[in-house]
Amino acid sequence: MNSKKIIRTLCLIGLIANSILALTPNSDFEVTRVAENVYSIVSPSFGLPTPENKGWNSNSHFVVTKTGVLLFDTGSSEAIGNKIKSAIKTVTDQPVRWVINSHSHADHWLGNAAFADTVTEIITSNQALAVMKKYGEEDVKFYSKVTKGTIGPTRLVYPTSLLGQGQKRNFGGVDVEFIFANDGHSPGDVLMWLPKEKIIFGGDVLSSDWMPVITGHGNVPNLIKTLYTIAELNPTIVLTGHGGATTAESVKRDADLLSSVWKQVQTDHGNGQTPEETLLTVKAKLEPKYGSLYKDFVPEIERHVKLMYTLQRA
Ligand SMILES: [Zn+2]
Repeated sequence: MNSKKIIRTLCLIGLIANSILALTPNSDFEVTRVAENVYSIVSPSFGLPTPENKGWNSNSHFVVTKTGVLLFDTGSSEAIGNKIKSAIKTVTDQPVRWVINSHSHADHWLGNAAFADTVTEIITSNQALAVMKKYGEEDVKFYSKVTKGTIGPTRLVYPTSLLGQGQKRNFGGVDVEFIFANDGHSPGDVLMWLPKEKIIFGGDVLSSDWMPVITGHGNVPNLIKTLYTIAELNPTIVLTGHGGATTAESVKRDADLLSSVWKQVQTDHGNGQTPEETLLTVKAKLEPKYGSLYKDFVPEIERHVKLMYTLQRA
């Protein structure tokens, strides 16, 4: 395991040293109804994959259609996928016919194998698939290691259908549009929009009471643009990859925050300042307004500034 790989994996969720964020795991895989025929399975554990959470640290969401279930993200392992499958069966007899993988980070697609018996398509973007193929085997080993094997074995099952930006589909009578974040969080991120229901499925592009998740292989300006685009759609329900559901207002707030930090870093970097100097400026300017709105403002604002500096040099 090279250090670059470990950093990449840790950046999946962006929270490296916050053990307080590893909340008590919920082994129930509880299904919550968020709208008619739309459900969420939200992991109570937001942090890194650990032996305690058995690697379950990300959310899945699903839509029950007339002809099958459309599932958005499948968790971090085949065993977790099977738990999600059992949870779905508590609300419908319909099998999972379509899987969307929001992006290539392991906690959003390694559960695909659990649905291989019933799916007709596993869907993602070309760029996300390329990253999955490059890192999939390594990711399985890494997740097994950091969870001390409690995550269980995983067969790699890759997406079979590729999307284009803005592509529209109909799944069992439900209209769906796919929105690319243009690598905002990671290469080839895909969001799913239900235009009639006004529900957005954000994967890790959207956050709730946690800071927006920027990564070293994402594109911050494109993430900011995407957040504004989503806020303008004015969704009534915003579903996220980690943490609870949120609102259009909080998406706009995230965009404003990220935009302020990015602009400050650009200016200061251009003036030859250091990340430490920028951090002082950013904290003085933004902490009074935003500090209490995010559970991880202090550690994350520091990570944001430092990472944005490295992205200026890239
Ligand atoms: Zn991610």
